[in-house]
Amino acid sequence: MPFTETQSLSPNHDAAPPNERRGVVFHHTAIPFADTVALMLRPESRVSYHCVIDRDGSRCRLVPDHCVAWHAGASEFMGRAGCNAFMLGVAFAGDTYREPLTSLQLASAIEWLAPRWEPLGWTAERMTDHRQVAPGRKADLNPAEWLRLREAIRARFG
Ligand SMILES: [Zn+2]
Repeated sequence: MPFTETQSLSPNHDAAPPNERRGVVFHHTAIPFADTVALMLRPESRVSYHCVIDRDGSRCRLVPDHCVAWHAGASEFMGRAGCNAFMLGVAFAGDTYREPLTSLQLASAIEWLAPRWEPLGWTAERMTDHRQVAPGRKADLNPAEWLRLREAIRARFG
């Protein structure tokens, strides 16, 4: 550490109103890192994450935190519908049903969270995944991998 972080700004976001940044919805991409970045740079895909984390822990930032990325779709968290408006989206490259998150991906996610955690008033309860905010519609992350991630977050931030 620290992991490499590059930036490739995706056109797929709303600049206003600003993202409320109440917490994070984690995803997996199901496709390789480079393909994910390429997809999100295409306006017609109409999808984006704030950040995608490769298998080796390197990250690409695609949408600025204060903007609304298009990652969650129809979703609900903390009693509110439409997670894109108030949650950041972070994705792990790969398919968590085919292969577990790498330790480098977990460490990189923690590194990404660290500078945001206190300033944004985040707690472990503000962390979730796509499966939990869109139950029955989305399956990422694999529940076992979500537990690993949640464990790593709690170990670092309490
Ligand atoms: Zn997802």
